[in-house]
Amino acid sequence: MTPSALPGQPHLAYRDHELCLEQVRLADLALTHGTPLFVYSKAAMLAALAAYQRGFQGRKALICYAMKANSNLAVLQLFAQAGCGFDIVSGGELQRVLAAGGDVKKVIFSGVGKTRAEMRQALAAGIACFNVESEAELEVLNQVALDLGVRAPVSIRVNPNVDPQTHPYISTGLKGSKFGVAHERTVATYQRAAALQGLHVVGIDCHIGSQITQELPYLDAVDRMLDLVQDIEAAGIPLQHLDFGGGLGIDYNGDTPPAADALWRLLLAKLDARGFGQRQLMIEPGRSLVGNAGVCLTQVLYLKPGETKNFCIVDAAMNDLPRPAMYQAFHQIVPLAQKPAPEPATSWEVVGPVCESGDWIGHDRALALQPGDLLAVLSAGAYCMSMASNYNTRGRAAEVLVDQGRCCVIRERESAQDCFALEHLPDPA
Ligand SMILES: *Cc1c(COP(=O)(O)O)cnc(C)c1O
Repeated sequence: MTPSALPGQPHLAYRDHELCLEQVRLADLALTHGTPLFVYSKAAMLAALAAYQRGFQGRKALICYAMKANSNLAVLQLFAQAGCGFDIVSGGELQRVLAAGGDVKKVIFSGVGKTRAEMRQALAAGIACFNVESEAELEVLNQVALDLGVRAPVSIRVNPNVDPQTHPYISTGLKGSKFGVAHERTVATYQRAAALQGLHVVGIDCHIGSQITQELPYLDAVDRMLDLVQDIEAAGIPLQHLDFGGGLGIDYNGDTPPAADALWRLLLAKLDARGFGQRQLMIEPGRSLVGNAGVCLTQVLYLKPGETKNFCIVDAAMNDLPRPAMYQAFHQIVPLAQKPAPEPATSWEVVGPVCESGDWIGHDRALALQPGDLLAVLSAGAYCMSMASNYNTRGRAAEVLVDQGRCCVIRERESAQDCFALEHLPDPA
């Protein structure tokens, strides 16, 4: 029988009624490695990257994977080998890049709260650029660089004040956001940066939000950025690179974000029209490179039909899949085995075992279920495992990378001992 692909999920398909990622039967992985289990497709990640690479063909562009989306070392190695740089937000992430064999000269460092220790670590390693988010940070970075006898390459993250029309918690480029320097303060901040001996101004950047599914916020942000570039350069401060951040959305539930290559054709046309098309360009995509490359496998523990709601209790929870609890996010949930005869589907609240009413994975899902059934939570490659916690002393799930027929455990399941390994009982008095 011909495999039937899932909408928006080209690397997932039912073959003989069994859900497969690339060629691998997911039920086999669940039986071998247990659940909850994250499984990622290498081909899906490389296909997502290829869309950006096509979009930038013939341009000077560096794709810096925003690794907070999924920072497993094997994922980082894959993107490093494909030529990517990395957008980091902590010293810990820098250590991951180094451990995965990434090129430190392609690392840019974002985030509103870099510590002095993190600045020293990144300067010693020789990263490409600090994306500075405030005037106060500029002064501290200057001091740290002078103390080390080096000059810190800086770009200033500007807040273009455009509404990305996404969830408020993942909008970052509006007035009143904690991120970036206000549009009106930008030229003055650049003048200050240029005057500081420990800094070397190299670029400008913005990042307006996440899970953006429309072109317009990007087009507006590019226009507002280019206005600023003209003002900054008119003040005698040349900029080597322009960084447009990340934020492109993925299809979680019939969402229709532009394809990366189509979006960049539009944005590059604007850059060309305004004479900036041949500049060094950078972008910082996270979710759009990994989100739809991963699934989380989970098993039905109990069915608890009720008067007003039917609960399906599964072995994955908010500590594994935090997005529904944090952002009311939607993830598709599908069975690993298509039932041969269509059973009547009931509406279920799919919830985890954690002791919180906020611990839900999906509301009102039409599924035909039995205890013991295996399910896949889709679009789980980004901001799931990287946000996972040990709440309720639940060890974090294992992760498997699928590469054509080969499967590799890229992170082992945590044990309870792993969860409390760093704790100590006080000595008796
Ligand atoms: C999180 C983040 C990104 C990546 O965002 P996505 O929506 O995952 O593409 C890029 N740049 C910065 C500064 C970020 O904080």
